[in-house]
Amino acid sequence: MKHSIPDHILDEIRSRADIVEIISDVVQLKKAGNSMKGLCPFHSEKSPSFSVSPDKQVYHCFGCGAGGNVFRFVMETQDLSFFEAVQNLAQRVHVTIPSPSDAGSIGSEPSEKEKIRKVNQQARQFYENCLSDPKMGSKALDYLKKRGFDRELLARYQIGYAPSAWSALQQNLEKKQFTDLDFLENAGLLKKSAERNNYYDRFRDRVIFPLKDMQGVIIGFAGRAISDDNIPKYLNSPETPLYKKSKFLFGLDIAKTAIRRENHALLVEGYFDQMRAVQNDILNVAATCGTALTPLQIQLLKNFSTNVTLVFDSDAAGQAAAEKGFDLLLSQGMNVKILCLPDGHDPDSYILKFGKESFLQEVRNAKPFLESYIIKAIAQEDTSSPNGRANVAKRVLPLIAQISNSVERVEWTKFLSEKAKLDERALMSELRKKFHSTRPQPELPKETQTAPPNPELYLIHLLMSGNETTLRTIRSRVSVGEFQDPQLRQIAQVVYEMIDASVPVLLDRALDKAEDPETARQITQIGLAPIEFEDQERAAADCIQAVKRSAAEGAIKELKRQRNHALEAGQMQESRELQIKLRNLETALKAG
Ligand SMILES: [Zn+2]
Repeated sequence: MKHSIPDHILDEIRSRADIVEIISDVVQLKKAGNSMKGLCPFHSEKSPSFSVSPDKQVYHCFGCGAGGNVFRFVMETQDLSFFEAVQNLAQRVHVTIPSPSDAGSIGSEPSEKEKIRKVNQQARQFYENCLSDPKMGSKALDYLKKRGFDRELLARYQIGYAPSAWSALQQNLEKKQFTDLDFLENAGLLKKSAERNNYYDRFRDRVIFPLKDMQGVIIGFAGRAISDDNIPKYLNSPETPLYKKSKFLFGLDIAKTAIRRENHALLVEGYFDQMRAVQNDILNVAATCGTALTPLQIQLLKNFSTNVTLVFDSDAAGQAAAEKGFDLLLSQGMNVKILCLPDGHDPDSYILKFGKESFLQEVRNAKPFLESYIIKAIAQEDTSSPNGRANVAKRVLPLIAQISNSVERVEWTKFLSEKAKLDERALMSELRKKFHSTRPQPELPKETQTAPPNPELYLIHLLMSGNETTLRTIRSRVSVGEFQDPQLRQIAQVVYEMIDASVPVLLDRALDKAEDPETARQITQIGLAPIEFEDQERAAADCIQAVKRSAAEGAIKELKRQRNHALEAGQMQESRELQIKLRNLETALKAG
């Protein structure tokens, strides 16, 4: 990994930041033999395959393959760069990273993302102050109070108010040394007027919702108009390096723990819906904020649960959404239920009027999405005619084809055939056609793919766990270039550098040098599932021979290709030379 933080600083941080402690913030870990186990934060699972080794200070998931050291974990879970993750941990364990002025050891400026985080924090403070200001904020505060939101909840969400002036925020930020107006525009806080060539506040006369990522860091803002002539009703930050609309769910920072605990997420549409639920202690709720669901949002949710209930304010809205984005949820293996609240209520108004218990009862009664979809389709078509029944099949089958679990697919086809009085076998054959045309063939599960023993991989295992003599033997006999597998070659490179520098071969350190995440995964897997060799020396010798043999075989194949090519082209001299090389190689190979 390319960075310019000195190794001794990294080692210092590493020695103080215990990986078990850091990961325990996010994952509940239990002791299991030499390691700790828990539910993987990177994929959804019911039995723990996520493993942390306190000795080796690395983690690895045997379910999804995620793996790395403490820096990688912070990068992945908090969406930080390597440098930012190191800074984050350094702060936590009180290690000072030398600044660029100290001997110029570090070249990186705070990243654009980091700068936006800082200015967002300042803007949030400003908006919050404006809301509590008796003169400026009273109209907004009255509005929020009328809607039944108390001070405590507003403080929890850090709700604010953007005054109606054109440059109130800009002036405040300038006082706090945020003077680069282009940057403030990129951060989504200011807009530029093309005609007058000046900047003005993006949010004016609006209630402000800070938008937070899963760690509660403010990545953007949304503003709701409080007077009718201010349009649009809702205004959001534009896309910035930090805020990606398609990757955001409002309230997930508050909801994530409850979603995992209850293994169930409620998805609502609006900010106020989410806040009302939390106000009533219904915590497993996130809001899509009016956008159609995206694969990235589903991915976010899937980290915590695959069971989701979508709550809509009317049948019509539910129906419309069904036609848009539901196949996506089904194809990602989510169990989707749908709840359409009566009389045009949204969760906000429903909970306010009927209370928490009544709402939770509605949630419990929610139907699986496909069930309500099929029943609605049948109601809308004339199923007494063959034509009408065919229409039902035409509408429903494409969705059934998206279900990733084959047993469930069959069950839903049965359900459809019963309800719509359609022939089940005909449906199944129709479904098979659809299934094969719309989906790639599912991959075989990993365990059933029997891979031949891989000598290169064994060598890496030996390099990671072997004794000094074994290490030296492998180092001297196999060159980096003789590893054919690009990832294993990269690992060999890293390990060889450590051997040459006479530093102990440590998994944790190797991970800092691994360029890509795939290689990191392979390293952690090797570390956490070590192979026990009865006789290391012997195993090393066998593997070295096998690797040499396959390298030689590869070279022979290539030489043959070149020789034939030369023969065809009539280059006799060249082909003779190649033939000699070829014979030498073959002799050497036979001799072992
Ligand atoms: Zn995993």
